[in-house]
Amino acid sequence: MSWPRNSPPQRETDSAAGIDVTDAFEPFSQRNDVFTRAFWDDTVRTTQTDGFFASYRMEAIPRRGDGFSQRDFALRNAAWLISDVITDRRAAEGLREGFQAPIQADTPVATEQVPVEDPGAMANEVKRIAKFFGADLCGITDFDRRWLYSARVDTRDLSEAPHDLPEGLTSVIVLGHEMEEDLVATYPSALAGAATGREYSHEASIVMQVAAYIRNLGYEAVPSMNDTALVIPYAVKAGLGEYARNQMVITPEFGPRLRFSKIFTNLPVAHDDPKPKGVRAFCDICTKCADACPVKALPYGPPSTERANISAIKGVRKWTSDAEKCFGFWAKLSSDCAICMRVCPFNRDFGTWYNKLWLKLALSPFRKLALRLSKTHGARVQHVPGCVFAGNG
Ligand code: SF4
Ligand code: SF4
Repeated sequence: MSWPRNSPPQRETDSAAGIDVTDAFEPFSQRNDVFTRAFWDDTVRTTQTDGFFASYRMEAIPRRGDGFSQRDFALRNAAWLISDVITDRRAAEGLREGFQAPIQADTPVATEQVPVEDPGAMANEVKRIAKFFGADLCGITDFDRRWLYSARVDTRDLSEAPHDLPEGLTSVIVLGHEMEEDLVATYPSALAGAATGREYSHEASIVMQVAAYIRNLGYEAVPSMNDTALVIPYAVKAGLGEYARNQMVITPEFGPRLRFSKIFTNLPVAHDDPKPKGVRAFCDICTKCADACPVKALPYGPPSTERANISAIKGVRKWTSDAEKCFGFWAKLSSDCAICMRVCPFNRDFGTWYNKLWLKLALSPFRKLALRLSKTHGARVQHVPGCVFAGNG
């Protein structure tokens, strides 16, 4: 097959990042992601998926007791507010910014460019600025075009549309945003969805502010959340963590309990290296996320190129969920589910000596002992009392 123009250099670091791309690879079209399919594909769209989206507007709120009261939905939807404001502001142009289109620039690129003599120092400066604006993690990798969606979605008619990214982008700055531990412990619930919404709102402001800083230095910077490209390969290649069976990036700081955003730029910055530490080996002996998934949407066994439906990328050997089953469960809940994040043994507070020691064990040849210990100590496994969907909690 013909590779995108800058692919060969990226392939050299694939193996360090644990990314296995086969000859069957095809870039992913965002029109096929399960959230977009819920608007055009009758095999996905149901009254429950319509109800899922309506619940974010405080319509059709199901009341199921603890974790699903009007107060819980109210908090969740308030947590999403800043993200929603950005997402909706150019709806008339078919741009759902941050989800189905990159966030449009509010700051022009300065006509005078600050010279960058030391890309390593510039990378450190960007990381400091990202933390100043509130990012919890920051890594930088190359602009690998394989992970760009082949097209974005024009939300007026759900057709495919070009990204219209500026020419000459070279780097992706990846930001990590920690989710609140006590709320994550309540998955699955509308209350837990406040942890998700709060980080999307944080992401929106942080990527816009970091991008504005770079644009004020005279360089291109495109802020991006879930839109434009798959963030996980960039996060792994930027050394922030490792890909896991639950389809999340597991980080040494927060385990899987975070969200990622990104900024595409041509600012001259040094790139980080992938940092494989042993999560893959741990997932090989652990199936807690797959066992706990109420709809069995997560795979057992080793990574493979199998995909249950068109909502997964083609030609990448990895652990891949059945997104239709997963989103079907979200629709039933009228909220996002992350049981597979909550039950993961890496979901723990690494600020304590015990959990620091546990992490060392988990990433060592003593991982089986760490797995045994995780059944009794440390990982966050509680759920909302009385929640009707918490059968596996
Ligand atoms: S989010 Fe929930 S339904 Fe989806 S894979 Fe994880 S546990 Fe299963
Ligand atoms: S629960 Fe176990 S298998 Fe699943 S992602 Fe976490 S460590 Fe890996």
